Formats: sequence, C-alpha cells, structure tokens
Amino acid sequence: DAEADRAAAAAELMSAHRYSIRPANPAAHLFEMRLTVASPDPGGQEFVMPAWIPGSYMVRDYARHVVSARAESDGRDVDLVKLDKSRWRAAPADRELTLVFEIYAHDESVRGAHLDTTHAFFNGTCVFPAVVGQEDTECEVEIEPPEKPVGRNWRVATSMRRKDAEQYGFGLYHAADYDELIDHPVEIGELSIGEFEANGIPHAIAIRGDTRVDMARLCHDLQTICEQHMSLLGAPADLDRYLFLLNAPGAGYGGLEHRWSSANICSRDHLPARGDEGVSDEYRTLLGLLSHEYFHLWNVKRMKPAVFVPYDLSQENHTELLWVFEGITSYYDDLALARSGLIETDSYLELVGRTITRVLRGAGRRRQSVAESSFDAWTKFYKQDANAANAIVSYYAKGALVAMSIDLKLRSETNGTVTLDDVMRAAWQRWGMTGEGVPEDGFQQLCAEVSGLDIDDFLDAAVHGTGELPLESLLASHGIAYQLRRSSGGKDKGGKAAGDGSLPDVWLGADLASRDGRTVFTIVHNDGPAEHAGVSPGDELVALDGLRINFAAAEARTRRYKPGDRSELTVFRGDELMSLRLLGEEAPADTSYLVLDDEADESATARRSAWLGH
Ligand code: ZN
Repeated sequence: DAEADRAAAAAELMSAHRYSIRPANPAAHLFEMRLTVASPDPGGQEFVMPAWIPGSYMVRDYARHVVSARAESDGRDVDLVKLDKSRWRAAPADRELTLVFEIYAHDESVRGAHLDTTHAFFNGTCVFPAVVGQEDTECEVEIEPPEKPVGRNWRVATSMRRKDAEQYGFGLYHAADYDELIDHPVEIGELSIGEFEANGIPHAIAIRGDTRVDMARLCHDLQTICEQHMSLLGAPADLDRYLFLLNAPGAGYGGLEHRWSSANICSRDHLPARGDEGVSDEYRTLLGLLSHEYFHLWNVKRMKPAVFVPYDLSQENHTELLWVFEGITSYYDDLALARSGLIETDSYLELVGRTITRVLRGAGRRRQSVAESSFDAWTKFYKQDANAANAIVSYYAKGALVAMSIDLKLRSETNGTVTLDDVMRAAWQRWGMTGEGVPEDGFQQLCAEVSGLDIDDFLDAAVHGTGELPLESLLASHGIAYQLRRSSGGKDKGGKAAGDGSLPDVWLGADLASRDGRTVFTIVHNDGPAEHAGVSPGDELVALDGLRINFAAAEARTRRYKPGDRSELTVFRGDELMSLRLLGEEAPADTSYLVLDDEADESATARRSAWLGH
C-alpha cells in the first residue's frame, strides 16, 4: 500500500551511497572524493578501486592515483587499513561511515581523469571506489564546482541522471548501482553543446575547447550516423538519451564507449569549420570514430562476451571475442558512413584499402590469429613494444577484415539473402536484448545457424588461423578489384593508387622516426634488409655509405639504391658507433587499394550496390 511504498522509498533513499567529487586543487590536479555509506559492514567496511576500465583492456590500477585516504564516522576518525594495491578496510562503525580520498588526476586520455585550471574530466573508475558487498545499491553523486575564480563559466556534461542539478549544471546526480556509476564519464569546463534528436531520442554533443566548429553540420552528420546504426539493430530499449563528450585539444585521438555516452578526443583542427564543404580526411576520421563508439551501444555495451557478465574489475578478463566486439564495430563504423551517404563509395574503398594495408605491413599476422590477439589484448595489443608489428595482429584492423570477409562470403553464397546484418540482428536478439553473455564459440555458431551454410572451416581459418584472408576473390564477387603495390614511403597509408612519382625499388625493412633531431629506427621488420644487416630498434641512423643522413632525406637517399646494391650503414647503438653491411632488397607489395571493377558482371555490381547501399 501507499504507506509501505513511501517507507520503502524512504529506506531506499536513506541507504543510497552518497558520493561527492570536488575539484579541490586544480593547480595541483587534485580531486577530493567523499563517499558516505549509510549502513557499513558491521565487521568493517571494505572499499575497492577498479584495476581497469571496461572498453580498454589493460590493468591500470587506478588506486595508484589515490594520494591520501582516510575514514570518519560521527565526526571522529576511523582506522583505515590498506589491504592490497586496490582495497581498503575501515574499522567497524555503528553508524554512517565516510571515506575521503585525495586523487591525483593528470591523465588526459579517455580512460583517465584530468584536472587543471582549464577543465575537469573523470571516469568513475578513476575516482569512485566500490562499497564491497553493496555494489547493487543506488549511488547519488554530488558534482561540486571548483572554488572561484577557477571555473567561472564551467558547465557539467554527463549522461548521468540528474537529481536536483540543472541541465549541464553542478549539483546532485544519481546512478542505479556501481556498475552504472562508472559508466558515465563527466566533462566539466567551458563547453560548446549541440543537441539533436535521433529517431526521437534526445542526443547531444559537448565539446571542450575553443573550436569554432560548424555545430549545425556536426549535429546533422551525427544524427545521420546514429539513425543509420539504429536502422540496423533498432534503438536499445533503455536508450532514452545519448551524449558524445568530445575533448578537442591541439592534438590527440581516441574514444571510449559507454551505455549512454562516449568520451572522445580529437584535434580541434579536425572539426569542420563554418563554411567548410566536403569531407576532409581528418573529419572523415572523426566521423568514423564517433560512429565506432556509437555502434558499441549495441556491440559490447549491451551485448558482450559471457566473461564480462559481470565484469571482474580486479583483474584481466580474458576472451577470444574482442575481434567480434572491436573488429565488427570497426567494420560497421566506416560502412555506416558509406551507407548513409556521408562519404562516397571511392572514399569508403580508400578506408578499406588502408585497413588492409595496416594488416599486410606486419608479419605479426602470420604469428597471431585475431582470437589470440583478443585473448592477449591485456599484455600484448595494449602493451606494444618495438616488436609489436612482428608479433601481433590488431583485432581491430584484421577483425574488421574478418567481418567484411564474413559479410561478403554470406552475400555471395546466399545470393544476398543472408548478410552479416542478419547475423548481427540475430545476435542482438539472442544476447543483447536478453543481457546474456556471448559464449566463446557463440558467434561462429550463429553465423552458420543464420546462414544455413557450411562455413565452419572458413570461419576457423579467418578467426583462429594466421593465413591470408580471401579478400581478392570476395571483393571480385562484389565488383571490386583488389590491388597491391609497393609503398611510396613512410607517409603512404595505402588506399590509393600510386601518384606520379615512381615507387622505390628497394626498402629498408624498418620504420624511422625523428626524435630530438635524431633519426631513429623504431621498428625493424622480421626478415627485412635492416634486420639482415643487424639493425636494432632504437639504433640511431647516422650515415649511409659515409654520407650523413637525416630523417627528412632518408627516403630520397635510399630510393637511389637498387636490389642487390651493397652499402654501409652507420648507426649509434647507445654510445657505440657501428658499421653495418646493408644489402638492397626488393620492396614488397604491401600496400593495398581497391577500385571499382568496370568489367564486373551485372550480378557482381548488383551485389556491390546491395552491400554499400548505393
Ligand atoms: Zn571500440
């Protein structure tokens, strides 16, 4: 009855965890976090900070940024013991207990927390500990302003539900439980905000930084992307709002997905300016990024690997399926731009050509499958060293190509009646709408089940194998010619035919970078000329055949050599000067581009139109 309801509501309100976060000292990059627990564990309440943030698969041990911790109850200090790298336990308290953290925040990435005199940004994983044993309790969050004069015009952007806070204002917010609490990143600063609706659902983008952006165009393009994705899988039932957070400093790139928002970084110069027409390379990259994070609403935020249900935030959660959640998302992010007409077909083919090129240029694709790359993401993909190109394959890039291969294979063999879209719809119904996790072998089985095809061997080879994908034949069946050529140099990302200049005959088999005015070998490719000569990553290139060489001149100089030419490479390894013998070797055709096949038959061009939407 009503009386009991009110009592229950009051009890619920009383027992909500009360977090407050305050930019206590922006100049010192310190937040103060206070957490009050109404009914602490009578045996002594434990608190724990996450070791990692969902979506970024590396142990980051966020507790290491807690610079001081104390507890109090009823105005008196309560003993607080550190149990391990991430956990604390307060002495038993018989009334409400408050934990106080001072947290250092100077990581300006989408996975971190950052505070200075220009803005504040945080993920809940960085600043909010969990109340052990009470993770399902509702959380209230008081977001407090900094002391003046800092932050006079600051506003708050977050997808967290408001309680008494004004829209974009400081004040009280709330989340249903701890899992939701850490799924709402918060940006606080001088913000440009654009609002739009996608299929009737309110959406917004909050940009930090002085961007002079064409906000109307950006909102229009985002609406197009969001509605494109919704047309594939339908809006999730609990999606009643969505917020793109975009930090736009001078340089930077990245994004992290959440259930009702995403945190993104791009260079301010890559945003479209008022009066700009056409889609620049940089804006296309930004649209691809935002499209990617939005597709994650379905693919990994609601439909996720079984081992993520629930997440264990104390340690690595291994799964072979990251290629499904990142690779398929990487496939649909750019495909949605083409299908919605934001970019032309040739622009889309350029992007695919670049993805193929990224995969082809690493020998790691012959050593690691996308399933293995997924499993070892925590210690390999996220902890790349100079040997990464030789040892690992990206479950993003190759995962996207596996997704495209599956899609084209289904389209070819079912005469277009079954596509990857159908598999994704079935997956969404089975695992996304139910919240059940995807079993490790679930996706492959579903592909076979939905298509009715005998494609186990094909899928096994693509997902668990290290051979080349049959891209040439699959693309040919869709009226697209797969082309390979040599690279024109360090800036050549592929995707396009060679320009006018002739391509170099030889290659170094190594990547160079300019560091503090020195020319340094960053990557030495397995079985390439540099490795044969004995070059190590980190060596400084000093001279070629007795002539000093610098980064800017290196490509032009090496281009003058032919296969079979012998030369002397002079390098510093640390402080030791070394002379190495280099033998010119023919450059590999490791650069891909795709072109429409004018001679394709009618059925192939029909399949192409059905695939790309135009
Ligand atoms: Zn992603």
